[in-house]
Amino acid sequence: MADAHPVEPVEFTYVPSREATDLVSLRDRYGLWIDGKFRAPASKRFLTTVNPATEEPLAEVAEGGERDVDRAVRAARRAFETWGRLPGKERAKYLYRIARMLQERAREFAVLETLDGGKPIKEARDVDLPLVAAHFFYYAGWADKLEYAFPGVRPAPLGVAGQIIPWNFPMLMLAWKVAPALAAGNTVVLKPAETTPLTALAFAQLTAEADLPPGVVNIVTGAGETGAALVRHPGVDKIAFTGSTAVGKLIQKAVAGTPKRLTLELGGKAPHVIFEDAPVDQAIEGVINGIFFNQGHVCCAGSRLFVQESIADRFVDKLKRRLSTLRVGDPLDKNTDIGAINSPEQLDKITELVESGIEEGAEIYQPACRLPDRGYFFAPTLFTGVSQSHRIAQEEIFGPVLSIMTFRTPDEAVEKANNTPYGLSAGVWTTKGSRILWMADRLKAGVVWANTYNKFDPASPFGGYQESGFGREGGRHGLLPYLEGVPR
Ligand code: NAP
Ligand code: MG
Repeated sequence: MADAHPVEPVEFTYVPSREATDLVSLRDRYGLWIDGKFRAPASKRFLTTVNPATEEPLAEVAEGGERDVDRAVRAARRAFETWGRLPGKERAKYLYRIARMLQERAREFAVLETLDGGKPIKEARDVDLPLVAAHFFYYAGWADKLEYAFPGVRPAPLGVAGQIIPWNFPMLMLAWKVAPALAAGNTVVLKPAETTPLTALAFAQLTAEADLPPGVVNIVTGAGETGAALVRHPGVDKIAFTGSTAVGKLIQKAVAGTPKRLTLELGGKAPHVIFEDAPVDQAIEGVINGIFFNQGHVCCAGSRLFVQESIADRFVDKLKRRLSTLRVGDPLDKNTDIGAINSPEQLDKITELVESGIEEGAEIYQPACRLPDRGYFFAPTLFTGVSQSHRIAQEEIFGPVLSIMTFRTPDEAVEKANNTPYGLSAGVWTTKGSRILWMADRLKAGVVWANTYNKFDPASPFGGYQESGFGREGGRHGLLPYLEGVPR
């Protein structure tokens, strides 16, 4: 039922409030971080990373080749001889130091994250960086307590971990990978995403300032081929990958038949379910956060909205009104809600999927908003009249695009929500506690949020089912993939 007197949104004007960038000092060109120093790549190749909000180049970074990866893995192997034998309480001291230094330099890292990746500064500052530091603090706490984490066994590190991460949360994904690996006594070779290598390189320098022994953390920048070389390298004991399901499958094939351990954190198409008894205003905010946080470049984004039919019209009206108040634009502006799309390739992918939604018969809604003339931007988008078979209801868009569907009964909600090859996360809004538990039992997802969305805590494990991958990051569970001799 629509409101009898829809309230027109009030136009607020915001004076720009731009975060300063003078804290960040960039080199023109970066080598590979191997054995505690920047080294010129044997490949002699470099890539340019740009600011997606302005299309301006920020720096050149090395493109690691086969020989570079080999050099990094050998450095990690040598460092493991001592790091792996260090008492846990000594490893913990380094991790605490790194955590404290990340807190002290949080603003610098947040600005750099926003410059290189396009996310709003308020998110990099208030979400990414606090969680990054919290992750290092949390795993510092486990480093000397591994025998208590897994009582009755003697946990031991695996050796060298090869870690490959995506561009949507560059520092946070680094923290999710590096902190538990180091706490457990492993050394690492990490490959950041091609479009967002700069915070990982700043982190490399920070590890040297923290006196971390050379070779414990190695950062090999590059593109997909660099990641593939790391996966193939016989000196790697474990591969931890976060990225797309397609690349995850390639990696699983490459690792099959080798002794390498593997964890895969892949894509998602999360259901966000709103029951008629939900607190509507809070649920609207949850939905907005669920799909527009980080431009929707979120593996666990609530990209399929299921609203109970009895409140659907009213809910969608309110949602449209709320959409018109979102501020899209300069990611460095502290008022900005939706920043830049990470790359032209990602913008093309979003555009193509949105066009498919229109062609397949769904109804599009975009609020009036002016996008900047330069840079890669996409307006927040809703689709109604979506059917289960539409591509926009099936495929991960990884952008600010929400597909809205309805349901009548809880059983129908579960059936529709689970109609996906993925299974990473889900959200439920209702005032009935029993219904939350009933839904959580039935939703096929690694994480189910109730009356909230996109909440993260280093103590809470995160990971998927089915095509969303396997293995958990965060919590005590996040140590398991980096330890030998523990029950799985
Ligand atoms: P992607 O294309 O799979 O890339 C992820 C990483 O793998 C990048 O560093 C990439 O390098 C590298 N890579 C590409 N091809 C490779 C190959 N053949 N072998 C080894 N490494 C290779 O994914 P993306 O587009 O960057 O990230 C978006 C995806 O990540 C989404 O599907 C999202 O859902 C998922 N994600 C999942 C989680 C989770 O926790 N489950 C968290 C965040 C993101 P280049 O960047 O140079 O191509
Ligand atoms: Mg970039």
